[in-house]
Amino acid sequence: MLDNGWDVGRSVRRLVFRGPLRCNLCGSGVRFRSVTGELGETFAKYGFPYSLDDFETLNHRQYRCPVCGSADRDRLYGLYVDRFLPPDRVRRVLDFAPSPSLSRYLRGRADLDYRTADLMMAGVDDVVDITHMPNYADGSFEFFICSHVLEHVSDDALALKELYRVLTPGGRGIVMTPIAPEGSFDEDPSVVDESERWRRFAQGDHVRLYDRSTLCARIRNSGFEVTALDSRTFGQETFAEHAIAENSVLYVVEKPA
Ligand SMILES: [Zn+2]
Repeated sequence: MLDNGWDVGRSVRRLVFRGPLRCNLCGSGVRFRSVTGELGETFAKYGFPYSLDDFETLNHRQYRCPVCGSADRDRLYGLYVDRFLPPDRVRRVLDFAPSPSLSRYLRGRADLDYRTADLMMAGVDDVVDITHMPNYADGSFEFFICSHVLEHVSDDALALKELYRVLTPGGRGIVMTPIAPEGSFDEDPSVVDESERWRRFAQGDHVRLYDRSTLCARIRNSGFEVTALDSRTFGQETFAEHAIAENSVLYVVEKPA
C-alpha cells in the first residue's frame, strides 16, 4: 500500500483505493454493496454475450450505498451538480425516472426548482411520456437528468427531440444509458420476449443496447452538443473515494444558445 491510500493491484492497470470510502449523496462512510453475483448470474442465464466489466460506468463490485441506496452513477451525477451547477441562481430542473437518493439530494438544494417525471413510476410530480410532453412549454427547464431511460423507449429520437424542446437555449442535461463495448449496438423494439431482451439488450424491459458512438450520434442528431466527462474532470481519487469506476463517463448535453 502506498502512503496516500492507493494500492497497485494484481493488474497494473487497476489502482485499488483502500482509504475510507464515502457516499457523496448522504455523506456516510460506508462499504458499498456489490451486485456482481446477482447480475452476473442473470447475464449468464440468458446468454448475454458481454460481462459486467465490459460496461462503461458500472461499479458492480461497489455499487449501492447501504445507507441511502445510491448507485455509482447517482454519485457521479452528484459530483457533476456540485461542481457545475453552483447555487448562484435558481435553476428549473427536470429529473426523469428519479433515483430516490439523488432526488432527495437535489430537493435539498434551495436553489433548484426541481421536478420529477416518469410514465410508470409512482410518486413523481408529473406523469409524462418522454416522447410527448405537451404539459411542458418550450424552454421550460435549464437542466435535466435523463438517466437509464432511453434504453426503455421505442423511439429514442422522439424522446431526445422532446428533451431538446423543453430545454432553454444554453441549458444542459445529463443523458446516460448502459453503454456496452463499441460495435455492440443492437435494437429491436419489436422484440417483446423478456428472455430475448435479456439476451440481446441486457434487461427484460430494454429495447436496445447502446454503444458509445451510437448514443453520441443520436444525441447529436437531435441538435444537442455532447461532452464526455471522466476522471480527468473529477479526479481519479474522487472517483475512488465515492466508489465510481475508473472507466466511468458522464455524457452532458447542451442546447446551443
Ligand atoms: Zn449514500
